[in-house]
Amino acid sequence: MTGSAVSTVVTGIGELVTNDPAREGLLGLVSDAAVVVEGSRVAWVGPAAEAPAADQQYDVGGRAVVPGFVDSHSHLVFAGDRAVEFAARMTGEAYSAGGIRTTVAATRAATDEQLTSHVARLVQEMARQGTTTLEIKSGYGLSVRDEARSLAVARQFTEETTFLGAHVVPGGTDPAAYVDLVTGAMLEAAAPYARWIDVFCEDGAFDADQARTVLAAGAAAGLRGRLHANQLTYGAGVRLAAELGLVAVDHCTFLSDTDVDALRDSGTIATLLPGVEFSTRQPYPDARRLLDAGVRVAIASDCNPGSCFTSSMPFCVALAVREMRMSPAEAVHAATAGGAAALGRDDVGVLAPGTRADLAVLDAPSHVHLAYRPGVPLVSGVWRGGRPLGAL
Ligand SMILES: [Zn+2]
Repeated sequence: MTGSAVSTVVTGIGELVTNDPAREGLLGLVSDAAVVVEGSRVAWVGPAAEAPAADQQYDVGGRAVVPGFVDSHSHLVFAGDRAVEFAARMTGEAYSAGGIRTTVAATRAATDEQLTSHVARLVQEMARQGTTTLEIKSGYGLSVRDEARSLAVARQFTEETTFLGAHVVPGGTDPAAYVDLVTGAMLEAAAPYARWIDVFCEDGAFDADQARTVLAAGAAAGLRGRLHANQLTYGAGVRLAAELGLVAVDHCTFLSDTDVDALRDSGTIATLLPGVEFSTRQPYPDARRLLDAGVRVAIASDCNPGSCFTSSMPFCVALAVREMRMSPAEAVHAATAGGAAALGRDDVGVLAPGTRADLAVLDAPSHVHLAYRPGVPLVSGVWRGGRPLGAL
């Protein structure tokens, strides 16, 4: 080992998911494995029998280890909840994009401290379930002040922050005037706190022309684009994402053959959010069709108070296998390396020399248990940046 950082060899790994393309199979599995962590990074990966010496040793007792989950789509900055709306939906009312306005009113009324402590609680909840990298969007402020402060709050927890001023047109506002605001003063106030810009491109939210305008303004301000598209119906959003060469387009529930071809040809990642379909009783996206066509797929939680209030990536993996016909290996890969790719990251989602030492230790012998044992809290330990998170 080189350098002066303390090194730790993690031993007793019954099954290690590396996602390392240099290894065999989609997951690059290693049995009876060890990982050497040096500082915040992975220094060595391989069979335990060949592990180099380290300053200290940590044994996980035969458990499986996967890379920490990369949740590339969440809306954690909000106040209030919409349990009443959920209950109504479960008794027959349809989901519409307009419910977002309920959360906007509560978010605007909350203090910065209330928003920050609420996000902290949800981030901790995610960590307990193995998420070590996450993206957080704004989108419940919808004013210059409230979008900027939402992103300032999110920035305290992650560098993957996304300006989603174009989430829905606030009630009583002219849509064209609102797009001018989003691409003008709001973008200017939000950009210092954001890496990405996103648009909810859907009936009842923003059309493809408006999305194109918002993404172009974001690009001019140095923000990379992503889209919510084709969630509630067929539309032009996915094709726009492919045409612009965006790294990811999220939802992808209603896709034409042309949409699928466009995603395959552009390499844009389809981020599927099966918790949404679970929580809204909508049809699930057809992951099998996408994978068989050669489209790259990620899975994320879309944790938000309206359409999907789960923070659990293991739950999303289980849904992806049961409801979207993904294999357990495909789902675990999509929730780790897939999410990393959807954020343009190559330092997380993979366990190989040089990547960040983010590990989720499962109280199970293999990754398959994430889908095989739905709803069971299998994550028994989490390391982020080379350090165990301790009592979660
Ligand atoms: Zn979303």
